Amino acid sequence: MIRTAQCNCGGLTIRVDGDPDLVAVCHCEFCQRRTGSVLGVSAYFADEQVLEIIGKTTCYEREQDGGKMLYYYFCPVCSGGTHWTTEWHPGHTGISGGAFFDPSFPKPERAVMCKHAQPWITLDPDIRIIEDANNN
Ligand SMILES: [Zn+2]
Ligand SMILES: [Zn+2]
Repeated sequence: MIRTAQCNCGGLTIRVDGDPDLVAVCHCEFCQRRTGSVLGVSAYFADEQVLEIIGKTTCYEREQDGGKMLYYYFCPVCSGGTHWTTEWHPGHTGISGGAFFDPSFPKPERAVMCKHAQPWITLDPDIRIIEDANNN
């Protein structure tokens, strides 16, 4: 199954094949600020599942806790972020779950950095809660 994620303006598109290896809700500061929402949904695909990335990107490089790097790519026109790579998930590309805009997208299996969660958020009880994990 081919899935397509894109930024708001459609200038940046990423196409992947199949289901993600991992889908996680993340309440960390970076995900709250990068999305402008109160949580991120991170879907990790093996690099070989990534079929193509179309459009211009700007890269924001960020050192996370522990000194590992994250490379976050977003559209230079609308600033919509679609995907990232990290040194803690080598061989995988993280894609914003919301960028698929697909209610049939696989449900998150875990929620991480829950100590930073907004207190009014209630997740599906099937989602495993991890208080203080490294980013996803
Ligand atoms: Zn855009
Ligand atoms: Zn996060």
